[in-house]
Amino acid sequence: MSYRGVWTIAEEDQGIIREVSYELLTRGRRLADKLNVELSSVLIGSDITDAELNQLIYRGADKVYVIDDPRLKRFIVENYGNILVDLINKYKPEIIVAGATTSGRTLMPYVAARVDAGLTADCTELDIEEKTKNLLQTRPAIGGNILATIKTPNNRPQMATVRVKSTKPSPANLHRKGKILKIELNSRLIDGRVENIGFKKAEGETVGIQDADIIVSGGRGLKKKENFALLEELAKKLNGVIGASRDAVDRGWISYPHQVGLSGRTVSPKLYIAIGISGSIQHLAGIKTAETIIAINNDPDAQIFKVSDFGIVGDLFDVVPILCEKISEEEK
Ligand code: FAD
Repeated sequence: MSYRGVWTIAEEDQGIIREVSYELLTRGRRLADKLNVELSSVLIGSDITDAELNQLIYRGADKVYVIDDPRLKRFIVENYGNILVDLINKYKPEIIVAGATTSGRTLMPYVAARVDAGLTADCTELDIEEKTKNLLQTRPAIGGNILATIKTPNNRPQMATVRVKSTKPSPANLHRKGKILKIELNSRLIDGRVENIGFKKAEGETVGIQDADIIVSGGRGLKKKENFALLEELAKKLNGVIGASRDAVDRGWISYPHQVGLSGRTVSPKLYIAIGISGSIQHLAGIKTAETIIAINNDPDAQIFKVSDFGIVGDLFDVVPILCEKISEEEK
């Protein structure tokens, strides 16, 4: 049997499918259509309802392989890896795409090594090479200074992880039809040596810029740490969170979980306000899917104005207080 079809690795949290699963289906659908093959989504977890599984079909999957068992409630790479390797050996997909999430980044190398596959981590673009039908996997390389496109011509499956929020999730089409295959967990795939005894969020990870609808972001133009208070006031009024450029983080004005960009977080808010940020390619790489971008900068030639929907040329120390005042007036 030759390798055929595109798979995405869906993720769930307490029975609810994570948004990244739908982002992967957007990418997977494009690849499957170019190859003229089926798109399947694999979901390993626990307590997942049919209504949730159908969402994967509505968002682009032709088929869903689901392995639902209480023993799979928490991600344990040995168990998830054994299951995925088993599925690959049985169904032989030609491409597997997962999110560059904590679990995706852990699972994919584990599996790739076991099935002798090539893997490119943290891709920003995926495509199909017309002539060879190979997967083209593009990711930043050499410290983020170039974009490298990588192929795996000789081995199958071709595996990649893609940056979270680097694509928009597919919209749900309630008329789409597909197959859900419920596969019983084979106990021999459970590795009894590893047990999950608890889960604790890392400190600082509560900032949540990746899930925020509104981000007020500051850069070197703020001049010093204390001036972030100005942004905090604006963010509070808008019910938003604080983001930052790498420059502001490197200067110790704000902590790393706030950093937006290539070496920080990729964000996808409805509104992104860039204040005193020039718009370097590395910063812009993190806001490609933001819906509306407003830039405040005193340099009319700043790169950020090329990608912003609204631009205010002016001194941020004048503009931000006026904005706060206007919002307060609107609230009255
Ligand atoms: P600057 O480029 O110095 O811009 C400051 C802006 O503030 C200027 O446009 C200026 O006109 C404006 N300004 C100054 N005073 C005022 C004022 N009073 N009112 C209004 N505007 C004012 N950068 C990131 O942000 N995120 C990343 O993840 C990231 N990853 C990187 C990875 C690699 C491998 C490399 C090489 C670089 C990376 N960088 C990243 C750094 C990036 O190249 C830039 O150096 C950085 O984004 C610049 O930050 P900035 O816009 O705050 O500062």
